[in-house]
Formats: sequence, structure tokens, C-alpha cells
Amino acid sequence: MNIILPTKNVKTKDFRIVDGILYVRYGKSFQNIVYGLTYFMKGRTFCYYCKKKVARNEMTLDHMYPRSTGGPTITQNLIPACKDCNSQKSYMTFEQYKTYLDLSEQERTKYLAKLSVFKEGIKNIGIYEIPNSWITPVLVKDIHTAIDFANISETKFQKVKSYYDMYHKFQVPMLLDRNLYSLDGFYVLFVAKANNIKYVPAIILDNVEINVNSKEKS
Ligand SMILES: [Zn+2]
Repeated sequence: MNIILPTKNVKTKDFRIVDGILYVRYGKSFQNIVYGLTYFMKGRTFCYYCKKKVARNEMTLDHMYPRSTGGPTITQNLIPACKDCNSQKSYMTFEQYKTYLDLSEQERTKYLAKLSVFKEGIKNIGIYEIPNSWITPVLVKDIHTAIDFANISETKFQKVKSYYDMYHKFQVPMLLDRNLYSLDGFYVLFVAKANNIKYVPAIILDNVEINVNSKEKS
């Protein structure tokens, strides 16, 4: 699938967009690039949900499909939101939150109780809430990484590992560029390797490429 990008060409020190392809400089945080692109395309002035004006440094980006049930950090899954709306939306999807907002106080409590059972259930049977068409199973041995393994955080590793131990799946699919370089979620790769897991769920972004050749220059 493609990540949604600005239509015009862009050049910064961390990435370039040329004719609809995003070239990421080797070693740069893909997540930060996605945050910047999202604000660039969707604005950083108003909360999408309550429409109130938000100070630049108070703005957050909400995952429309929440991280907790597989929502990736890509532009089409992010929306500018104030902290209050973002925290109220919590683990709801965009659609579920719209339903929630139309309910009375009393109905909201019931709705949330029902949702929390549903969310725990889907984690246990190993499915995500994102569109199925986004996900591709990829052989672990085919995935490359441009991340410096020396900087691995033991805490993050343990967090991904204990989720896997509990549910026998990964919370969020990996994000890969069109050459199967890891863009995001590389702890999934570590845990998969440590557990001899053959395949991981991934979202392959066909219009993104890590510019591996820029390695020497950085
Ligand atoms: Zn708001």
C-alpha cells in the first residue's frame, strides 16, 4: 500500500519527496518524519474533534485506529487533536468515537464496557482492528534494518516480548519500505528473532524508500 504524501515535491535534511516517492535518509526516525508530514498536510491549529483552536505545542496526533489494536503511525491514520479529545478517545477507533460522542452519559458507560470486552477478545484471537488489506505476512529473514542495534532499549524489548508472550501476536504490525527495510516497529523484529518466529505482520509502504546509500555521508 502507499502512505499518503503531499502532492508536491519536498526536500529537507531528513527526507525528500520526489514524484510521489518518499526517500528517507538512512538512520532518521520515520515516526518523526510522519508526524511532520501529517501536520504539514492536516494543519497544526485546530483540534479535528472539538474544532477548538490549539496552541502549537499543545497539539497531539491521534491514531484514528489506535495503537493498542494495531493502528500504524502513517499519515492516513493520524489526525491533529487536542490533549483532552485524544485522551477521551483513548482506545476507540475513529468510528467508535463518533458513535460514543452521540451517546448520553449513561449510554457511554455501557458502550465503553462493551468495547473493552470486545478489544480484549480481538487481542486474544489475534486479529487487528485495521483494514486487513493493509497487512502482509513477511518472512523475518527477508527484512533488512537500518537501525543501529547498539541503541536497543531493553525496556522496549521486554514490553514487546511480554505482549507477544501473552497474546502470541504483535500489538502493531511492522512498517517496511518497498525494499523491506524496517521503518518502524523494529522491536517486533528483535522479538521475532529471539523467539524463532518465521513470519511477522507488516505494512509494506510501496512509495517509501530508505536511502541506504546516504549512510556514508551522515
Ligand atoms: Zn479537541
